[in-house]
Amino acid sequence: MVKIERFIKYKIVFIFMGNKTINEMVADILAAGLIRKIHVDEHLAQLKNPFDILDYLARIQTFINFGLKGTGIVSIETGVDSYLSGLQQQAIDAARQIAERDTLTGLYKRDTIDHLISRGGVPDERRTQKDSDAIMMFDIDRFKRINDAWGHVTGDTVILAVAEILQENLRESTIVRYGGEEFYVRLCQTDRYGGKVAAERARNAVKDMAVEYAAKHLERMNLPVPKEMIKKAVTLSVGIADEKPGELPYQAIDRADKALYAAKKCGRDLVALDGHNPLGDMPYHRRIFVLVGGGI
Ligand code: GH3
Ligand code: MG
Ligand code: MG
Repeated sequence: MVKIERFIKYKIVFIFMGNKTINEMVADILAAGLIRKIHVDEHLAQLKNPFDILDYLARIQTFINFGLKGTGIVSIETGVDSYLSGLQQQAIDAARQIAERDTLTGLYKRDTIDHLISRGGVPDERRTQKDSDAIMMFDIDRFKRINDAWGHVTGDTVILAVAEILQENLRESTIVRYGGEEFYVRLCQTDRYGGKVAAERARNAVKDMAVEYAAKHLERMNLPVPKEMIKKAVTLSVGIADEKPGELPYQAIDRADKALYAAKKCGRDLVALDGHNPLGDMPYHRRIFVLVGGGI
């Protein structure tokens, strides 16, 4: 935790990423004895939503120091006025990163997409009014077994590995960590058939490389790589639907999710399209395997 000592003469603004107002957080900080006196801008004190706070900060010229409850206090130290605007931008960027991005993977957080959707926007400016977008829901297959067999830290490295491989293979898209081991992907100006090509590429790359990537992360953390893990492949199931112009984003998410469920039901390790039988596109031998064997 960084001690704040030299900022008493500056106006200090806190950005709090929780379910409390700034005033409530300031009370916590004062109670913890970290700082003696805090002046909080009156308007800012009433804001709860980190995005509204960021919007507000972007508009005001003030010295920013931001704190995050539970993660310690991040402070920016300078007495030189000319540094302030640069630092303010850095602080806004850093705060935006924390507000929008998932800590484990660096992908957009689910909250981000909820927030942007509620404002009628999506985090991709290339979206146009006339084209559909492909909405893809990726879900790691039998992930619970990975956790149960090798522990949650190894599970985390698998999630991180999948996120990295998705980013490498879906560069033109917006990727969100939608749930624990679920990812939402928006591929702009295409439909579900275009999306399928990209999704198959990502699915195969994950199958080929996720374990290797996860093992590297474990090594970096000085943790043992489970021997049995090396022999396994991480697989993904994917559901894809078109988000038509003018449609609410959650309508497409719902259809993509149903397609994902169909992929799971048909044996997993599959890409399923809204309105199609997931087994329809599969090689015949694989179809039989899935139907007889119930999956991988
Ligand atoms: P399916 O093929 O049907 O998707 O099976 P599954 O086991 O992947 O699905 P299920 O939803 O039963 O389990 C998901 C698991 O993901 C349960 C939860 O404990 C785990 N999980 C969620 N978030 C995290 C995380 O951040 N880290 C780790 N290690 N595990 C997580
Ligand atoms: Mg899931
Ligand atoms: Mg799963």
